[in-house]
Amino acid sequence: MESPRRSSPTSPLRSGSTSDPASRRIHVLREDVARKIAAGEVIDRPYAVVRELLDNALDAGPRRIQVEWENGGIDLIRVSDDGGGIHPEDLPLAVLPHATSKIESEQDLESLKSLGFRGEALSSIAAVSSLQIHSALQNGDGRLLTVQHGGPVRITEQARARGTTVTVRDLFLDLPARRKFLKSGRSEALACRRSFEEKALGFPEVEFVLRADQAPTRTYPPASLLERVRAFADPSLGADLQLTESTWEWARLRCVFAPPTFSRRDRAGIQVFLNRRRIVDFGLSQAVQFAFGDFQPGGSFPYCWLFLELDPAQVDFNIHPAKREVRIRRPDALHAFVTRVLRDELRPLYHRSPELGDVWPLRKPEEGRPATGSTMAYPTTVSLPSWARETAAPPHPAPRPSLRYLGQIFRLYLVAEREGRLYVVDQHAAHERLNFDRLRTRAHERQPLLVPLEVPLDPEVREFWEANREMLERVGVRAHLDGARLVVHEIPALMRGLEPDLARFLQEPRGDTRDLEREFYARMACRMSVKANQELGPEEATRLLEEVFSLPEPRCPHGRPLWIEITEATLERLFGRT
Ligand code: ADP
Ligand code: MG
Repeated sequence: MESPRRSSPTSPLRSGSTSDPASRRIHVLREDVARKIAAGEVIDRPYAVVRELLDNALDAGPRRIQVEWENGGIDLIRVSDDGGGIHPEDLPLAVLPHATSKIESEQDLESLKSLGFRGEALSSIAAVSSLQIHSALQNGDGRLLTVQHGGPVRITEQARARGTTVTVRDLFLDLPARRKFLKSGRSEALACRRSFEEKALGFPEVEFVLRADQAPTRTYPPASLLERVRAFADPSLGADLQLTESTWEWARLRCVFAPPTFSRRDRAGIQVFLNRRRIVDFGLSQAVQFAFGDFQPGGSFPYCWLFLELDPAQVDFNIHPAKREVRIRRPDALHAFVTRVLRDELRPLYHRSPELGDVWPLRKPEEGRPATGSTMAYPTTVSLPSWARETAAPPHPAPRPSLRYLGQIFRLYLVAEREGRLYVVDQHAAHERLNFDRLRTRAHERQPLLVPLEVPLDPEVREFWEANREMLERVGVRAHLDGARLVVHEIPALMRGLEPDLARFLQEPRGDTRDLEREFYARMACRMSVKANQELGPEEATRLLEEVFSLPEPRCPHGRPLWIEITEATLERLFGRT
């Protein structure tokens, strides 16, 4: 694990911009350079002010940054840093369009190490708010610049400690058309908080302090990357988060992730940072999903913070006004690298402890997991499903734990005692999960249909067939076109009887087809599974439970838990016996 560092940036690729910021002077960019810079609205809402002011503060090489806002930033935003400050003679230049100290020529973009480079933020902010910049190169110096809604610039002397404080009041006050688009203070505050969090995650070695509206002040001391992510992650992930690092040619990867047993049903748990900026990049988040996909059921997504550092020459941030999107050279090679590193990291998790057999490597609930009334269950002894076995070493024979089936309740849950714990198992979710794994591993066991399934070939079905032929082959569905119909002649043997569901799947209109394969398995598994309200005999129930307790991943294909577990200790506590 890396150790916290205070002033020096953690990355070897980022040293220039912050090394001697005071020596750099502000100038207005030559027109030909200015014209090559991606234009666009940088300041649309308060969160954008927070982002731009934080970028500026971070480019000044600070140890500590303090952020404050009122009414979600609409009334006030203030960002203070103890970085290099602005040269007193440069202060009036800072609010001019295209005035920057960070680049001079277009070539400088090739070796860009700062967050800013367009010289647009302060001039845009000055035009739409009441702006103050108070800055000093050394303790005891200091000048204060004031501009009211694009009016004249005034400068006065006022001593302060080294660093810069920028205060933005009354955003869009005299622009009713823009102000109208602001949301409530509450939701603007949420967006501001996201800006703050993104910057704090990108710069863990800098101390961040936040005073947001009436909330108590929060301090994030300088930290390692892992600690900084923990400070912002869902607390239930805390101790389970882990860090992996790797380098390859022109890329350095650090990744903080939760074991695959933790998942979400959307992609919001995947965050990508490139050269310390949070970016939105479909290819990179998909590279993460591919790696986790081997270990997580369909429809569930990991918690993963990807921090990439690339040689600036390999990436172009000059394509999006907010630098949210980037162009990476050789993206495929980079994606493959990310997937490989993560997969290699996740694979051994399936196979670790010789004493216990194959173990899903989570702490058992009693080890440090906060004692709650009931905890998610993590089986200690499992045998791998065959799809996992393909990528892991052969499993050890594991002793079969004793299981006592107690009965079904509410016509949905199976209750059992096992190894001193009480389990309540969702029979549908459990069965669905087993069927999902079966379908995935036995897609090649096909069966010809005596009566082929015919689907009318409207334009949507044709388009779907053309785009997803290979995927259908992979999942075991074979079909051909015959005039105005799509004729399915072979399906996986396990799917016998599901023809109507398959027909529906083929005909359904859909926009996003990214996770189609998983969606297919999840949907078919759902149809194959015992439902709520279905009574199971004791033998059937026991068989289901035994299979389910040997899964490495106690979640259904939609990411819901399969069971909850209550320990004897929990019962004792609840009954006041301890
Ligand atoms: P950019 O960051 O793209 O250069 P800005 O309009 O955001 O453009 O800022 C203009 C200039 O003002 C910067 O290049 C930098 O020299 C100076 N500046 C702004 N904020 C700070 C700060 N907090 N500390 C030191 N210099 C700053
Ligand atoms: Mg800037």
